[in-house]
Amino acid sequence: MGFNTKAIHAGQPADPATGSITVPIIQTSTFVQEGIGEHKGWDYTRAGNPTRDAAQLNLAALENARYGHLFSSGMSAIHALTALLKTGDHVLCTRDVYGGTWRLFSKVLEPFGLSFDFVETHHVDKVRAAIRPETKLLFVETPTNPLLSLTDIQAMAEIAKEHDLVLVVDNTFMSPFFQNPLDLGADIVMHSCTKYILGHSDMIAGFLATNDAAISEKLAFMQKCTGALPSPMDSFLIMRSTKTLGVRMERHYTNAMQIALYLNEHKKVRKVHYPGLPSHPHHELGSRQMRGFGGMISIEMEHYEAAQALATHMRYIRLAESLGGVESLVNHPAGMTHASVPKEQREAYGLKDSLLRLSIGIEDLDDLLEDLEQGLAGV
Ligand SMILES: *Cc1c(COP(=O)(O)O)cnc(C)c1O
Repeated sequence: MGFNTKAIHAGQPADPATGSITVPIIQTSTFVQEGIGEHKGWDYTRAGNPTRDAAQLNLAALENARYGHLFSSGMSAIHALTALLKTGDHVLCTRDVYGGTWRLFSKVLEPFGLSFDFVETHHVDKVRAAIRPETKLLFVETPTNPLLSLTDIQAMAEIAKEHDLVLVVDNTFMSPFFQNPLDLGADIVMHSCTKYILGHSDMIAGFLATNDAAISEKLAFMQKCTGALPSPMDSFLIMRSTKTLGVRMERHYTNAMQIALYLNEHKKVRKVHYPGLPSHPHHELGSRQMRGFGGMISIEMEHYEAAQALATHMRYIRLAESLGGVESLVNHPAGMTHASVPKEQREAYGLKDSLLRLSIGIEDLDDLLEDLEQGLAGV
C-alpha cells in the first residue's frame, strides 16, 4: 500500500456503531463494565482510548511499525524513553540536537544520575569513541535542527547492534513521508507531531513507534503511569492531519528546493544549509536514506543585524518559533529556539548569531520568492 493510501485508511475503519467514515471522538474518561473487569477493551482513558488507539495505529503504519505510542508533546515522548533507562546509564546524543531535547537531558535527567554526551553523530568514528560500558541509548536527530547535518542511520544501527544500544531517531524534520528510520535499523522512531504531522501550527503532540514488543510494552506502561497523552479530540486532529501529510510534504519540498537555489545565488546570503543542494556535505547520504529533502533551510547572513533585519521585514514569512506548518516561518535559533543552549556551546558547533532558520510553507512559490526578495532588499 502506498503512503497516501495508508495515511487515509490505516487504522481508520468505518465506525461499527454508526457507519461514520471518520473515527469518532470518544470523549470520555471511563467505560461502563458489564461485570467486574468485563469491558470492550477499554477501562480508563489514561490507559487506552479508542480515538487515541486509532491515531496510534495510523501513525505506526506510516513508519512501517507494529507499535505506536502517542504523547502530549514531542518532549513528553522523549521523556518516556526513560522507561528504558536506570540511574548510572549513559546516553549518546547528536550534538546540535533540538534545544528542548538538550535541556531535558542536561537539566532534568542528568541530576537523576543519567549521563549524556553530545557528539557529532555525522562522524561515525566519534560515536564509536564515545561509547562506554554503561552506554545504553543512542539518540540521533537527522537532519539536525537548525544546521541540517545528516547522520547515517544504517551506520548508527550497526554500532547500536554491536554494543547492545537502543537506537532512537528523531524523525521530526523529515516526517514519515521522506524517511523511515525503523526500515534503516533504528529501534525507535520519534516525532514531534506538532510540526509536519499536524502541519497547521495549532496543536502539540509527540509520538514513538517501534517494532520491538518489549520496548512497546515499556512505553505503553509509561503512557499509563504518567498520562502525558493527547486528548481524544487531539487524537482525532492527528488523524485529520496525516491524511494530507503526503501532499503537504511534496509541496514543502518543491518550494524549499527552489528557495534554497534562489538564496544560494543571493549576494546578501553568506551560506545556505539545505541537504537538497548538491554542495551540502551530506547530500549523497541524504539521497540514500531520504526520499526528499524536506522544507527546512538555514541561512547565514553577514551578521546579527542583517539577520534581524530580514527576519522582521517579510510579509508572509513571519517571525515565530516552531516549523512544519502550512505557513512559512522564520526563526532566529540563537535568540529563540536554541537560547537555552549556552552561547559558547552554540558557537562551538557553528550555530552563529547570524543564522536564520526558515520553515518553508505551502504558499505559492512566487509569493514566497517575492517576499524574500523584498526582505533582502531591506537588509
Ligand atoms: C519541536 C521539536 C521537538 C519537541 O517537540 P514538542 O512537540 O515541541 O514537544 C523535538 N525534536 C525536534 C526536532 C523538534 O523540532
